Amino acid sequence: MSALIEAEALEKHFASGEGALLSRRTRKLRAVDGVSLSIAHGETLGLVGESGCGKSTLGRLLIRLIEPTAGTIHFEGEEITGLPAKALREKRRAMQIIFQDPYGALNPRMTVEDIVMEPLLIHGAKRDAATRDRVSEMLRLVGLPRHSRDRFPHEFSGGQRQRIGIARALVLRPKLVVCDEPVSALDVSVQAQIVNLLQDLQEELRLTYLFIAHDLSVVKHISNRVAVMYLGKIVEIANKGELYANPLHPYTQALIAAVPVAHPADRASARAARARVSGDVPSALHPPTGCRFHTRCPHVMAICRTVGPRITEPSHGHEVACHLVG
Ligand code: SF4
Repeated sequence: MSALIEAEALEKHFASGEGALLSRRTRKLRAVDGVSLSIAHGETLGLVGESGCGKSTLGRLLIRLIEPTAGTIHFEGEEITGLPAKALREKRRAMQIIFQDPYGALNPRMTVEDIVMEPLLIHGAKRDAATRDRVSEMLRLVGLPRHSRDRFPHEFSGGQRQRIGIARALVLRPKLVVCDEPVSALDVSVQAQIVNLLQDLQEELRLTYLFIAHDLSVVKHISNRVAVMYLGKIVEIANKGELYANPLHPYTQALIAAVPVAHPADRASARAARARVSGDVPSALHPPTGCRFHTRCPHVMAICRTVGPRITEPSHGHEVACHLVG
């Protein structure tokens, strides 16, 4: 499969005013720090990591909602880093985002029809019967009844609001959709419905997804490949089956151990593995030297504290950054 989007050595550093009063120095928060990845046409790449690891920033960088500090992004073979605003606007049609919070992402004063129609109007459509038909068709595709058009977001449940957000993101018929924790704010009972809907829409509209989540259980169902992120870096990436069966990075192993399991014996081993990596994620303002995971890693060695591991590929398509491997 050819790549729809490819990022090379992508970085995003934010200036932080921490300590500015005393030292007049600003610090750099390295939210994304040297990430290279690609997503093939029609693929779903799961992106997993704890809060604050940079995964949402990475998603926004890929579709250029925010500007990278360094690195390149190619979309359909064309470099889009540095693209001027007008050309970027055209590209935006093909790159959309579904937000985590279906409550905050929708304007409460707009009807559902206006919410879903707005991207079409921004991209030059007229407010006419044809455009209204496109909105109705999109609402049908996400499973909302026709009469939803004239109602307001507060009249809907969380799951239905997320369907409205999905309709808004997909009405321009994008190719790449960044799904930024689209089910994290929803009741567990509704999460599977939304994941299934996203899968159906992917098939019907031939979409490519970057699916962001903070735990591996959510992305397991929907992803073809999974990337694991820790403090601004991708530490492991592999096909879903390979990653779950043969996780090589100690952090991935811990995340897998943290996935809820049905069997009590498994639960005990999961608790044990979780305990081995207990401790807080260090601040991205003061990332540890060497391997960024070394302050929490149960297998830490002397070299880990000073030398950052390079990405290696111990088997085809399975990449990992750890001194224990390669
Ligand atoms: Fe642990 Fe060292 Fe591997 Fe980092 S490089 S994950 S500290 S063993």
